[in-house]
Amino acid sequence: MRLFSRCKKVLFQAGHLVRVFLFQPVCPVCNRQLVHFRETLLCRRCLAELVASADPACPRCACPVSRHGGLCVQCMHAPPPFLETRCVAAYEGIFREVILRYKYGGVAGLARPLSRCLPPPDFQNLGAESQILVTVPDDPGRKRTFSPVKEIARRYARLHHIPFRPKALVKIRSTAPQAGLSLSARKRNLAGAFYCRSRYVKNRDVVLMDDVFTTGSTLKACARELARAGARVRVIALARTP
Ligand SMILES: [Zn+2]
Ligand SMILES: [Zn+2]
Repeated sequence: MRLFSRCKKVLFQAGHLVRVFLFQPVCPVCNRQLVHFRETLLCRRCLAELVASADPACPRCACPVSRHGGLCVQCMHAPPPFLETRCVAAYEGIFREVILRYKYGGVAGLARPLSRCLPPPDFQNLGAESQILVTVPDDPGRKRTFSPVKEIARRYARLHHIPFRPKALVKIRSTAPQAGLSLSARKRNLAGAFYCRSRYVKNRDVVLMDDVFTTGSTLKACARELARAGARVRVIALARTP
């Protein structure tokens, strides 16, 4: 058995050398050549960046706070329509670069490492039976077929054995891009844009997933609609803007 696994390893490394020689693969994020046999898509340096930050964050909205477990001022005064938020790290540096390459650079293979770096859905006070995964829906006017968040959600659902319900929450009208709008304009822009089918979510714990938590306007609009339909909502995102 040990001989078999050694042979397998040697063959794998030989295959890797052939691949390096023939195709000269590079890391899609930093363009360094992938020479180590463990580097299948990202280089080791970029892969090492995909780890959860240990910095203190508000448990409700994941924005940076001064001590672990403390709520931020915003959540103390106006709590968001979700109970908790977990993000991997701040949207900066190599981590931001990896997300951008994945979303806009055509490197769909990054869905796997990105789905694996997300925190598990082990929130407190959950009815484990009733938990489902939902993503922030795509705009109905969007042309491209690749949905970055859904690709990650599918893998995440398989990894953590949580049912993924992509049809539970839908966007029923196209909205203008949120970038550049003020907070109140963002809220107006999204009013009534989402619709949730309550048979999927009523009395369930819903994990709402998005790629980047920016101002939270979209996540709040989605969570409000999910809560209206009877769900208890928690948020998981890859990154939070610092
Ligand atoms: Zn790299
Ligand atoms: Zn907060």
